[in-house]
Amino acid sequence: MQQIAHDVLILGTGLAGLRAAVELCIRTRGSADIGIVSKVQVMRSHSVCAEGGTGAVMRPEEGDSFELHAWDTVKGSDFLADQDTVFRFVNTSPDEIRLLEHWGVPWSRREDGRIMQRPFGGHSFPRACMAADKTGFFEMQALYDNLLKYRSFTRYDECFVTSMLLEDGRFAGLTLFDAPTGEFYILRGKALLIASGGLGNLYGFTTYSQTVTGDGHAIAYRAGLPLEDPEFLQFHPTGLVPSGILMTEGCRGEGGYLRNNRGERFMEKYAPKMMELAPRDIVSRSEMTEILEGRGFPGPDGLDYIQLDLTHLGAERINKRLPLIREVCIKFLGIDPITEPIPIRPVAHYSMGGIEADIDGRTRVENIWAAGEVACHSMHGANRLGCNSTAECLVWGGITGTEIAKYLAQDPKLSALPEAKARDEEQRVFGGLLRQSGTENPAHIRRELRTLMDRHAGVYRTGESMREGLEKIRGLRERFRRISIQDKSRVYNSNLLQALETENMLELAEVLLFAGLAREESRGAHSRTDFPRRDDEKFLQHSMVYWTGGAPKLEYKPVTITAWKPVERKY
Ligand SMILES: Cc1cc2nc3c(=O)[nH]c(=O)nc-3n(C[C@H](O)[C@H](O)[C@H](O)COP(=O)(O)OP(=O)(O)OC[C@H]3O[C@@H](n4cnc5c(N)ncnc54)[C@H](O)[C@@H]3O)c2cc1C
Repeated sequence: MQQIAHDVLILGTGLAGLRAAVELCIRTRGSADIGIVSKVQVMRSHSVCAEGGTGAVMRPEEGDSFELHAWDTVKGSDFLADQDTVFRFVNTSPDEIRLLEHWGVPWSRREDGRIMQRPFGGHSFPRACMAADKTGFFEMQALYDNLLKYRSFTRYDECFVTSMLLEDGRFAGLTLFDAPTGEFYILRGKALLIASGGLGNLYGFTTYSQTVTGDGHAIAYRAGLPLEDPEFLQFHPTGLVPSGILMTEGCRGEGGYLRNNRGERFMEKYAPKMMELAPRDIVSRSEMTEILEGRGFPGPDGLDYIQLDLTHLGAERINKRLPLIREVCIKFLGIDPITEPIPIRPVAHYSMGGIEADIDGRTRVENIWAAGEVACHSMHGANRLGCNSTAECLVWGGITGTEIAKYLAQDPKLSALPEAKARDEEQRVFGGLLRQSGTENPAHIRRELRTLMDRHAGVYRTGESMREGLEKIRGLRERFRRISIQDKSRVYNSNLLQALETENMLELAEVLLFAGLAREESRGAHSRTDFPRRDDEKFLQHSMVYWTGGAPKLEYKPVTITAWKPVERKY
């Protein structure tokens, strides 16, 4: 089996992976040999879809402050965020905005020429720096442009990583196959950064690209790294019905209203001060309550909806600040938001949990780091604030790039390669999974899983429903053993690729519900009607889920509280 060695491997070329790659090049003056791996082309990573903005304190002289951003984030997290991590984040994100400015992001501007910032949910000051409503696209482009100044990296595009190899407790290599040819090989590295993004496709109604299936989470989990706080899955309040395409929070940041079927701005009842710009968990619950109590609009396939009304903003503002939103509404629904309200409802959006990583992004394995959505640095706790994710990707991309450069300076060696394990993995994928002839179609299992998650792990949860969901997932896992992959060739076998993704999704769905069932309280995005209160005495703790080969193992870890004790959240 072919082996290729680099100094550093970066799994994922979204904002976190690219930001880390640039930092590594800068810190090592282009001397580190980096392999960057993505199952899609660089610019197809989900980060290019980020719309509304990137959060940072840019105007202390106008009343914003690091403390205020930290407080908003901690309160938004329902006090589950580690507060030392939050402070590091808020102190660093303004530097990232300025860096990207120098690297070419065309930030939207105010009249006075300064970077424009719009209001976002749960933030008590306008903090979202944006490039109209295509922020992620421009950030990705600027990062990749800058990476091109260096010659020290090799791209492995359309390469699907299937497993992580450890030897004596250290990272040794990744097994992967090149999708266009089906060639299976090993990438070795002295260090690994996991920046493989989120897992939104666990759900049927989601804002995420089809490719966001949590592979990195599952691969790390099976290699022994614990997943932290996996039960906290964010529902964004404004997913377009019926596709789930995101209508950015920037719509409400620009002044959009939410209305029920009586024409009422119902957020008055739930968050009288912040109204539509309350944190996402609260707005999503409010929308669901309106829908469940009959004040929604009837939608297709049971997707009853709420209206997002931008009509009072005027054509000029919509065309300038929300051009993508308008284009999507016209193309997908034939609705022009300048004159008509948009049908929306809560949609699966973001995973607050992920691979446990410390404040420097280091995991429990000394030469593996994690950054971006796949990582849980515990900065979002039980509920992330809008515009804090792209910022987190940039901040921890920078931090992990720096940390890995320091590590390389100590001249570490490549770990010995467990070749037998790599051969077993090739056999598992191309010998077992691809060749076996069972009766089950993996695409059906994937579809059922996603519907099941919509139903059993949604905005509102109960023990009974989650238990039922877990049973069904175990049933699907059982059926997955008997799948048959239609396409038996090695060349661009998307059937095989999607089956591997589905296997990962099944693993993570179980983890999510397992931790959710054990958390007998309501906190942030985890809202249980059978345990409607937050229980700080028992659950002011991070869930830590470990792979065992059988049922997952669950432990808890204390939350780091440095500045604020939990209080009731009012908005
Ligand atoms: C529609 C949308 C709009 C958003 N808008 C905003 C916003 O305005 N502001 C904000 O702060 N946040 C926003 N978010 C959230 C934010 O964009 C994401 O959390 C963030 O971009 C994730 O970046 P990442 O670098 O962690 O991963 P990604 O950009 O998802 O990249 C993951 C990478 O990992 C690779 N990968 C994964 N699995 C494998 C595998 N098995 N083998 C090889 N490669 C693999 C992928 O190919 C990809 O390159 C939005 C999200 C969505 C979906």
